[in-house]
Amino acid sequence: MQPSPREATTAVRTTCPYCGVGCGVLARPRADGTVAIAGDPGHPANLGRLCSKGSALGETLSLDDRLLHPMIQGARASWDAALDLVASRFSEAIASNGPDSVAFYVSGQLLTEDYYVANKLMKGFIGSANIDTNSRLCMASSVAGHRRAFGSDTVPGVYEDLELADLVVLVGSNLAWCHPVLFQRLAAARETRGTKIVVIDPRATATTELADLHLALAPGSDVALFNGLLAHLETTGRRDHRYVEAYTAGLDEALAVAKAKSPSQIARLTGLAQSELHAFFELFAATQRTVTVYSQGVNQSSAGTDKVNAIINCHLMTGRIGQPGMGPFSVTGQPNAMGGREAGGMANMLAAHMELDDPRHRELVRSFWKSPRLASEPGLKAVDLFGAVGDGRIKALWIMATNPADSMPEADAVRAALRACPFVVVSDVARRTDTTAFAHVLLPSLAWGEKDGTVTNSERRISRQRAFLPPPGEARADWWQMTEAAKRMGWADEFGYRRAADIFAEHAKLSGLENQGSRDFDISAHAQIAEADYGALQPFQWPHSAGSQPAITRFFAAGGFFTADRRGRFVATPYRPPKLKISPRFPLVLNTGRIRDQWHTMTRTGKTARLMAHIAEPFVEIHPRDAHELGIAGAELAIVASPHGQIAVRVLITQSARRGTVFVPMHWTDQHASLARVGSLLSPSVDPVSGQPELKAMPVAVSRFEAAWHGFAVARGKPARITAEYWAVAPAKHGWRMEMAGTTAPANWRSWFEEQFRPGTTGAASLQAYQDDGSRQQRMALFDGDRLVAALFVAAAPVAVSRSFAAEALGRNFADPRDRLGLLAGRPGRGEPDRGAIVCTCFDVGINQIAEAVKSRRCRTAGAIGAALQAGTNCGSCRPEIERIIASEYALKAG
Ligand code: SF4
Repeated sequence: MQPSPREATTAVRTTCPYCGVGCGVLARPRADGTVAIAGDPGHPANLGRLCSKGSALGETLSLDDRLLHPMIQGARASWDAALDLVASRFSEAIASNGPDSVAFYVSGQLLTEDYYVANKLMKGFIGSANIDTNSRLCMASSVAGHRRAFGSDTVPGVYEDLELADLVVLVGSNLAWCHPVLFQRLAAARETRGTKIVVIDPRATATTELADLHLALAPGSDVALFNGLLAHLETTGRRDHRYVEAYTAGLDEALAVAKAKSPSQIARLTGLAQSELHAFFELFAATQRTVTVYSQGVNQSSAGTDKVNAIINCHLMTGRIGQPGMGPFSVTGQPNAMGGREAGGMANMLAAHMELDDPRHRELVRSFWKSPRLASEPGLKAVDLFGAVGDGRIKALWIMATNPADSMPEADAVRAALRACPFVVVSDVARRTDTTAFAHVLLPSLAWGEKDGTVTNSERRISRQRAFLPPPGEARADWWQMTEAAKRMGWADEFGYRRAADIFAEHAKLSGLENQGSRDFDISAHAQIAEADYGALQPFQWPHSAGSQPAITRFFAAGGFFTADRRGRFVATPYRPPKLKISPRFPLVLNTGRIRDQWHTMTRTGKTARLMAHIAEPFVEIHPRDAHELGIAGAELAIVASPHGQIAVRVLITQSARRGTVFVPMHWTDQHASLARVGSLLSPSVDPVSGQPELKAMPVAVSRFEAAWHGFAVARGKPARITAEYWAVAPAKHGWRMEMAGTTAPANWRSWFEEQFRPGTTGAASLQAYQDDGSRQQRMALFDGDRLVAALFVAAAPVAVSRSFAAEALGRNFADPRDRLGLLAGRPGRGEPDRGAIVCTCFDVGINQIAEAVKSRRCRTAGAIGAALQAGTNCGSCRPEIERIIASEYALKAG
């Protein structure tokens, strides 16, 4: 029975649905329909902390954009009609064209129980391995690297190792923004034990602020760097002979490759000074307790698997693995990327960490599932899968909880493929995404707060996501949707689950099947779990085999790898530079990634004004000298173009960008901007081992968007259509805020303004306008009684109006005509604060307030700013930015 919000008196313990840190959350529905959110002090991943995204979870639960009923061809339908159609179209495709003519594309947002059913249905009953996941875009290279080195997809260490290490090396990871709570744990450890931190990233980020050493290496040169480190460890006598001889194989081959490049060649390939290389190599060599954390900068690469193995090689050689404070450590982007791996929800895996190409494993799984036709060959990985949709091989596709029309590389080609596909089913919580537009059948899924199951975080810790809200409309669990389709396809007995606990128990039982320590993943302690125990399940790490007690677990300190001879493997990793076709036409290298307060394609975080207040518009970071050569000034708009597409985004000139490279965030879609889908620029080039696409290095050209006008508007309602060539829209506290621009100005600004913003107002709404032909400025505001309906500020250059002031005006009373004039002036009046862009979203503190506190109150540390303004004292995600503002204010003063 689902809880009612009005009944809940105690908090429900659940897990954050965003990143792979997997923080525990206490959710307490209130009588007024809102939900109080707090970090769970009892959860080992976060010990009560939450980042800005997690803290704002309560603001993402509205139903206004939810898909609440099944739809067929855009019309509301019953579940029976929708599921009958799904089952019949999949069955027809299989009967006519074979099992490989259908596919599932799933997501690291799914719960393990959803993944288990999806994998069982596709591999065990449909008989194809055409099930892949957006986790392919996230950590497939780590999976492949682990399997090559360890014989299994095992993360050897635990989060606590970051606190026990004397050196933490962060490779391709902006931990401060992408795994903020883990970053806070590391920052706290640094305060107490002086942990040294090295960041290896072409870009300067919030994470590099904390680094003792930042190696801004050339994009994609990580393998050369870690090969150099391996050779250095050998020549300086740091090999752990006992460990290497007792537990590993293949060092000679790996060393031969690593030594093939001289230190000066490595310096040239990485673009780093030999002194920087030497400093890093010596620090690593001299520090026994070393953890190397790696993330998307390593994985999202055409050499991702080699990067992973080049890192692991260094840990194997020094025996620094599986011991407190030591080890290579992949941190996943998604909340349940790990659970998906455990359930085998990828095209080249089986289930319970068994191997698709091992006949013994296949037989075990086949007999356990009683499957009529178990897949025996790997299926199509994400990029190939959408290629097969595009060329007509896939006749029926079921997409769950993901948005490939934006997130896949070559995203415009993916859209064309979806448009041409004979049958597309999309299960989602949102009614309108760029992918739902292509669905023949739309199925409403449960969202976070409504669904019930388990997820696994980056340290192998399985936690419950628990429902604390009733299912809205006709939304149903993803696993339920698939079991109902399976029943209609003739497999009622095998998919007769009544609740998530039944599925979890089966998954646990399979993990222990003829295992006896031969496979890493074993949670058979839960094979007989009762519903009540599942309800009360505490976070635990795997392995947790039948008869064992839950414990903190590490792997490989004393060998015990999962290869045939139980030895770990060094992998020779010859350096392959990224296949970048840099040319005069596309002379810059595009890097992509996340920003602090957004998650994936913004379907949830984009709903909250608080999170959008940090960065409300898509942007391109560009180095000052590159911008100068291109003739582009800061705050202007730019076109970023590649051979695959183009986007229009705001220019942010910063020394953080490496010369010759630019950075664009991954989040913006057609729902929030006119032309900002970074996936449309990226090529489908993949790592040959993992199939993970290269998302960090793409040749592009940047040019000025020749705007004849720039506009900024605030409005109570979101216009149905913004008639501007460039626009970006974001929720604000009392309505919406919009940036706009065009290459030709409307003939009549008043008519244009009223067209966008008058619909929905009463006839009495009055317009106030100001026009300056000399400076080509237009300012107008529409008032309905004493309330502001909309205000527009137009100029020939980027509009210099305080955004926070204008957005807050939507909540003010304008009875006094002088206030209306003040609004058109676009500046706060005397005594009215202009907070500037919001830095601390928890306490709504803006950049101007922080700068002022630095100047007038002599705040010199983030702690002092916290004491003065509260900023940075809750989730702490903004502390690196606060420190940066303090540093730049002092630099200005010194200058
Ligand atoms: Fe959620 Fe933030 Fe924790 Fe990640 S770090 S799980 S986004 S609260």
